[in-house]
Amino acid sequence: MSTILVFAEQQDGVFKKAGFEVVSQARKLADESGADVVAVAIGSGIEDKTGVLGEYGADRILLADDEKLENYNPETYKNVFVAAARDTKAEILLFSATTTGKDLAPRIAAAMDSSMASDCIGIGLNDGKLNVDRPLYAGKVFAHIVIEGNPQIASLRPNVFEAVKSREGQNVSAEKISLPDLASKISVIEVRRSGGDKLDVSEAEIIVTGGRGVRGPEHFDIIEELAHSLDAAVGATRAAVDAGWRPHEDQVGQTGKVVSPNLYILCGASGAIQHWAGMSGSKCIVAINKDENAPIMKKADYSIIGDLFEVVPVMTAEVKKFRE
Ligand SMILES: Cc1cc2nc3c(=O)[nH]c(=O)nc-3n(C[C@H](O)[C@H](O)[C@H](O)COP(=O)(O)OP(=O)(O)OC[C@H]3O[C@@H](n4cnc5c(N)ncnc54)[C@H](O)[C@@H]3O)c2cc1C
Repeated sequence: MSTILVFAEQQDGVFKKAGFEVVSQARKLADESGADVVAVAIGSGIEDKTGVLGEYGADRILLADDEKLENYNPETYKNVFVAAARDTKAEILLFSATTTGKDLAPRIAAAMDSSMASDCIGIGLNDGKLNVDRPLYAGKVFAHIVIEGNPQIASLRPNVFEAVKSREGQNVSAEKISLPDLASKISVIEVRRSGGDKLDVSEAEIIVTGGRGVRGPEHFDIIEELAHSLDAAVGATRAAVDAGWRPHEDQVGQTGKVVSPNLYILCGASGAIQHWAGMSGSKCIVAINKDENAPIMKKADYSIIGDLFEVVPVMTAEVKKFRE
């Protein structure tokens, strides 16, 4: 029986929803093909947290738990995952296209001399080969790719695939794997989290983004208030980031983060192609712009023609009323 090996990403001992999405998708592929889903959990002090991976569909959980693995280190994580892939003779390796996944998956493909497709928005199996869809040229075209080689490697765009507890209550205990040499030329001295506990745009289900139309950092509080009322993350266009109004980690787009939330509210932004490249996968797009001819107004699901300084506070008040 073949094996689909999944990188179950965690941070501070908390497994990420993006990882559950990949385990769930691996479960689907495995049900169609008779393969096993094996999740690899790498970290420190995470042994009692891995059980949930079984609920999302992992048949086995391989645990690499060591103080030296507390923080993501590209070299040691790569070595651990490659060892697990070789041990299990996995034919398919899946990752989430998070910041960590985007860094790790290509390193593993290079180390195993195999091929990979990144940031996929569709995935299936045909004749035992992984078939994926991924956007190219800032989302202007979509490529259908058949991945050759062994193992076949892909990373999946977060928030595109559903995280499904298909085996709720299933108790899979973690198997400790023998660790390769964890010596590394790279050492993580300190991890500084920008923005504290702020919700990251690439993981948020709702995002409220502000553009140049917000007119300055001092006005972003109205964007933040709407975001807060919706439990949403705050995003920014490159114009807002380049002007120094928002940190780069908030930037959505071709040179920022790629997001696929359920709801994307774009305030005072034109919807340039480079911004569209980062948010076109949003399930519902609401644009607020005073120019009815701004490019985003034709593409959005709901276009509100108006001054954001009037529209956004009204929306916030209505959301608050609704949620009371
Ligand atoms: C190689 C490259 C990479 C890039 N990568 C990115 C990227 O990752 N992300 C990104 O966002 N951009 C990116 N850009 C920049 C992109 O081309 C646009 O310049 C940028 O997205 C514009 O930002 P904006 O929509 O906020 O500003 P603008 O295009 O200036 O639009 C502002 C909008 O606000 C509206 N507006 C003004 N006042 C109000 C108001 N009071 N109420 C309502 N609406 C109002 C205006 O009508 C206008 O439509 C990239 C460009 C290049 C060349």
